[in-house]
Amino acid sequence: MKNQTSQQMFLDFNREFAAVTVTGDMLTVNLPSEKSLELAKEKEIPFINLCPPRVRPSDFFAVLNKVAGIVCKYKPELEDEISGFLAALPGETEAQELFVSQAFTPGVNLAEKIEGDIAPETLTFLLSHAVKPFMKEYGRIMSSYYEPEQWLKGTCPVCGGKPTFSLLNKDAGSRYLFCGLCEVKWRFRRLGCPYCGHNESKFFTVEGLEKYRVYFCDKCHGYIKTIDEKKLSESYLAHNALDLFWEDINTVQLDFLAMQEGYFNQRVDGAAKDTAK
Ligand SMILES: [Zn+2]
Ligand SMILES: [Zn+2]
Repeated sequence: MKNQTSQQMFLDFNREFAAVTVTGDMLTVNLPSEKSLELAKEKEIPFINLCPPRVRPSDFFAVLNKVAGIVCKYKPELEDEISGFLAALPGETEAQELFVSQAFTPGVNLAEKIEGDIAPETLTFLLSHAVKPFMKEYGRIMSSYYEPEQWLKGTCPVCGGKPTFSLLNKDAGSRYLFCGLCEVKWRFRRLGCPYCGHNESKFFTVEGLEKYRVYFCDKCHGYIKTIDEKKLSESYLAHNALDLFWEDINTVQLDFLAMQEGYFNQRVDGAAKDTAK
């Protein structure tokens, strides 16, 4: 029962959060030259390192405030911590611009730069959710600058992040990885672990949820949920634009099962484990 309630809260939170959207005029991108695009492809450099999105502090802080409001509604115990953090945000233009550009720079740990008593995990949660709607828009803009059939890597061409979900295409059975942050897709080889490159792939399915497979890796212990388009009926496809972000959110029970079996969520725990190595 408790599980069901928290699952419902998780869905409600994500529904409210998905309603926080940004428009194309809220970010600018200096598009890379042909030559730097070639280089990026060759050296596997994601766009975020090449031509990061630029966002006005006022727009970013407006989104951050909305996200903070939603987080406080679902986790009222964090309210003091979060309002203390919001009050301590930089007030001067230059410091604001630096803060916002760092929020969009992979690998920068803003927790070290923030004053106030916010717990690092609360800060990460809050910032990642405030960055997300901008990254979705950035992904939409950048998706015409790479060839999804040819990227073929285990990381996102736009943000460099790890895939959060995958899709088995119904026609050819080819596999596409999906980034839950920028919401872009790219092709990957049919078998093998996108996280560590191990060649073997095993998966399990769950009764009643046959359209999903959970691929797991015995080398890195990562797993990735996958939707098999072949298992979707024509009417399902006709009535639902397949939205992998929601497929991911709506299958959280598969995450629980995978974790119970000792596999871990690479996108959440990956960074911590990578640095622990
Ligand atoms: Zn991405
Ligand atoms: Zn692996």
